[in-house]
This record gives sequence, C-alpha cells and structure tokens, in this order.
Amino acid sequence: EKYKEGMKKTRNSFSSKLNDLMARYRKVDEDFFEELEEVLITADVGVMTVMDLIEELKMEVKRQNIKDTKEVKDVISEKLVEIYYGDDEEQVESLNIQEKELTVILVVGVNGVGKTTSIGKLANQLKQKGKRVVLAAGDTFRAGAIEQLEVWGERAGVDVVKQSSGSDPAAVIFDGIKAAKSRNADVLLCDTAGRLQNKVNLMNELSKVKRVIEREVPGAPHEVLLVLDATTGQNALSQAKTFSEAADVTGIVLTKLDGTAKGGIVLAIRHELNLPVKFVGLGEQINDLQEFDAEAFVYGLFA
Ligand code: GDP
Repeated sequence: EKYKEGMKKTRNSFSSKLNDLMARYRKVDEDFFEELEEVLITADVGVMTVMDLIEELKMEVKRQNIKDTKEVKDVISEKLVEIYYGDDEEQVESLNIQEKELTVILVVGVNGVGKTTSIGKLANQLKQKGKRVVLAAGDTFRAGAIEQLEVWGERAGVDVVKQSSGSDPAAVIFDGIKAAKSRNADVLLCDTAGRLQNKVNLMNELSKVKRVIEREVPGAPHEVLLVLDATTGQNALSQAKTFSEAADVTGIVLTKLDGTAKGGIVLAIRHELNLPVKFVGLGEQINDLQEFDAEAFVYGLFA
C-alpha cells in the first residue's frame, strides 16, 4: 500500500503517457517505438537503458509477430524487469546481514539526499526484526548532522556513538565498533560526511574509514550503501559513479521516490551501474522505507 502511494507520481505520469500512446497508435511501427523511447526517457529511465530496451522490444515484437499496440504492454513490462536484473543470476536485493557476528554497514552519499533519515529508518526496521543496532555519527563535518542522527536514534530506540563536531570520522567509527562489540550489537550503521565539492578529500576520508572497519572487523564492511535522491534524476547517476570510485558500493538506497514522477531512474541505476537498489524511500516518516521489489515496481508502472 505504502509502495503504491509512494509511486503514485511516477505511475500516473508513466501510465497516462503510455495509455495515450496506445490510443494514438494502433499499429506497432517505427513511429510508435520512437515515441515510446521518448516516454521512457522522460521518466528518467536513462538513454542507454532505453536504447537497450527498445532494441530488445523490437526483436521480441518481431519474434512474437505482434502487430497491435494492445499486446505490446506485457512485453514492455517483461523486458523492463529483464533489463533490470540483467545477467545477474543472483538477485542481491536483500541486506547482507551476518548471523553470528557484528555486521558493519557503511552509509555514504551527498548532503541532503536523505542519508541521516534513511539510517534512522533502517535502524528502526532492523530493530523491529529483533536486531540490536548501534549508530556511529561519522558525519562530523555538516553542522547539525550529529544532533540529527541522535534524534533518529531516539526515534528508533537505538544507541548513537558520537564525538564532537569536527573530529576525525575514522576515530568515531573506531569508537562505534568498540561500543557495538562491547554491547553485543548485531548491526553497526556508520554515517559519513557527504561533501562532494572536494573529491580527493572525500575519497581519502572514506578510504580511511574503510581501512579502520576492515582492520577491526574481518570481512567488514558487509555493505556500503550509497544514498541517492531520486528527484535529482540523472545527477544521481553521476554521483553513483563518483562514489563507486571512492568506495566499493554494494547497494543503493533511493530516497524521495514519492516526490518524483521520474522513478525510472531505478532502472537506469541498475542497468548502467550494475548496482542493486536495496531500499527505496517513500516519505519522511520512520516507516517510509521499503525493500525494493523490481517486479512490483515495473508492474506498478502499468497499473
Ligand atoms: P542528509 O543530509 O543526506 O542526511 O539528508 P536528510 O536525512 O537530512 O534528509 C534531507 C531531507 O529529505 C529531509 O527533509 C528529509 O525529511 C527528506 N527525506 C529523506 N528521505 C525522504 C523520502 O524518502 N521522501 C521524502 N519525501 N523526503 C525524504
């Protein structure tokens, strides 16, 4: 239900355009494909992804000998799901949580994308699943970031490890690991700073934090989640490229899907960067975070 509500803008925009297209074109021809291409690009599916999709569609339409646009809808959704998963046999959508040891999750992303909010929501979700969660306030740079994380920690009912503003993020994460171990925590969620203005600094800081985690917890970080704002469209794609260079990103949290009609960016992220979208943010409240389900998403577009 939440999902449906949060995807309303994308769904309405996409399905009305698609239905309009179907109404105007009875026959599946070159012009139809051209307009379909436009509809998909407007929904931020991404040029490369759209090109691949259209090519696949044309082949499938030929193979099945489809002439009428009424029959093409199902093929589009099938191919969208296929494009989404690509060659990945393993569908790594769920979080890599260790059963017996401490799981360390590093959360990265540019300021304002919803990083703190997502950490709070995730902490809450994990706690409700019976996990003991600790947060480490590693964004020591942005004014108010530590306090904001504390507010979310309180909401979720989990501990927050912090130092003063301006201190070394790697030292905060080190403290977080120590605290998580001594409190027998299951999951440590690490916040980080998100200034992209200075790419070299960002990379140095992230790799230092990562080194500390690797040294203190063998096998960690178990996830490096990159938070992206869906309303920034293709900008999100370029952020993903930058962060992938700085840290081995293992998955995406795509926020503010409720605030955009361009939810197609999910498909572009997966197809062009080969990164799984693990969670989507669908609002500002603590429960507005959902595990991403590509099939539900794609079929939702046509509902
Ligand atoms: P940070 O700077 O990356 O830590 O970003 P914040 O967590 O402070 O979030 C920035 C703003 O985005 C806040 O006003 C949040 O309430 C809002 N926000 C975060 N996630 C979502 C979401 O999924 N949907 C909506 N509508 N707003 C969100």
